[in-house]
Amino acid sequence: MNASSQSEKVDAIVVGAGLAGLTATALLAKSGVRVVALEATGAIGGSARTDVRGDFSLNLGPHALYRSGAGRAIYRELDIEVRGKLPPARGLALFDGALTKLPLGPWSTLTSGLLSFGGKIELGRLMSRLLSIDPEEHHETTVGQWLDENVRDRQLQQLIEALARLTSYANAPARQSAGAFFRQLKLANEAGVLYLDGGWQTLVDQLANRARKDGASIRTRAKVVALTRQERHWRAQLDNGQSYRADNVLITTSVGPAKRLIETAGTVVPDAWQHQKPVRAACLDLGLDSLPRPANRFVLGIDQPVYLSVHSASADLAPPGGAMIHVAKYLPPDTSSAPADDEAELESLLDLAQPGWREQVCERRYLPHITVANALDCADSGGIPGRPSHDSTRLRGVFVAGDWVGPEGVLSDASLASAKAAALAVMERRTISAAA
Ligand SMILES: Cc1cc2nc3c(=O)[nH]c(=O)nc-3n(C[C@H](O)[C@H](O)[C@H](O)COP(=O)(O)OP(=O)(O)OC[C@H]3O[C@@H](n4cnc5c(N)ncnc54)[C@H](O)[C@@H]3O)c2cc1C
Repeated sequence: MNASSQSEKVDAIVVGAGLAGLTATALLAKSGVRVVALEATGAIGGSARTDVRGDFSLNLGPHALYRSGAGRAIYRELDIEVRGKLPPARGLALFDGALTKLPLGPWSTLTSGLLSFGGKIELGRLMSRLLSIDPEEHHETTVGQWLDENVRDRQLQQLIEALARLTSYANAPARQSAGAFFRQLKLANEAGVLYLDGGWQTLVDQLANRARKDGASIRTRAKVVALTRQERHWRAQLDNGQSYRADNVLITTSVGPAKRLIETAGTVVPDAWQHQKPVRAACLDLGLDSLPRPANRFVLGIDQPVYLSVHSASADLAPPGGAMIHVAKYLPPDTSSAPADDEAELESLLDLAQPGWREQVCERRYLPHITVANALDCADSGGIPGRPSHDSTRLRGVFVAGDWVGPEGVLSDASLASAKAAALAVMERRTISAAA
């Protein structure tokens, strides 16, 4: 293509090459659509990238794949191999500055120091009830409201709040939709999660290879800065002066760049896009020479919003004898803390669970304020069903996908489910125009 003036014509342009963009690209290419994916940065994968440092594979913070989530079926459809292992369903609870057993099954509940006798009885009754709740009836109730109405024991309430953080990263009981939490809890209980061998980059690379094999083009350092209507087509303008034309555009960026792009197309940003609150975390990712306390593989904070997990104990992410640990703090949406204080809090959790860890550090990366998901599913906006839909841009042939879009899944499951919905919408438009 002539760099400056001409623009290449394709059937569909995908903006962004994270999981949503690559999934949409692979699905479109598989069905014969001529598609180009344009990624602003020098690397594909977005939040699902894995950095290889020495012999350690570091995801961007702790990533766990829900085995029965919406994404899994789409990976299958695209012949993407999901290779990983289930972490054990046991661990420790951090409460009042000390570690005790996390009460997740009958035996650990009995022997855990976390709950009083009354709290244990209440938990026993609650567990089967929690799993039989219909999430769809609770999208407009907050987690906090549900707990106030249904759970008496304060420590048990805190345990359930910790499970809500664990399954969705949201540290917002006064805002998070209980329906969103119950959906995740059901998924976790149905089939659990996988830590992936080699990290999430294995999914990213397979999706890209699959798309390329079916004829898609994936370009990096290709930031889309404007969308304009040119005759019957959309023109995606890149920051280097190049452009592409297509009948269909799928924007798979986070909500901020998506807003800016549809504004350049001359439309008003839909109301449902305006009130999105990101879910954020502070993450400390570590590669250790050896693990000081091999038994302490998983810790969940009950009265502190923190998490520690030795991902390499389940998945292939570290050299033999070494360990890859993710430690994280779930950041609340409405208040802020100093990154150095958050880091110190994560280090003191490590001191408690893995004393002597400092002498074993080979790789260390601190991400003080990373966006985990673009949208907290708030009860006051209707929870997951209240998210913007893939066709909410008000522009013909322009769709959106990502973890803030569509009525299905949270985190990467939402990215994949909305990517599929947007790709199907493009295919449908093509079928209609071919028939006309
Ligand atoms: C710490 C952490 C922990 C997580 N844990 C889990 C977990 O346990 N389970 C789970 O399922 N998910 C988890 N996630 C979430 C998961 O990683 C994301 O939901 C998913 O990767 C998002 O993919 P995406 O394609 O929707 O968006 P992104 O990954 O944000 O991709 C968007 C892409 O668009 C590009 N872009 C932006 N603007 C432009 C432009 N103008 N032109 C071209 N390209 C552009 C960006 O560079 C980026 O590559 C976690 C995320 C984090 C950060």
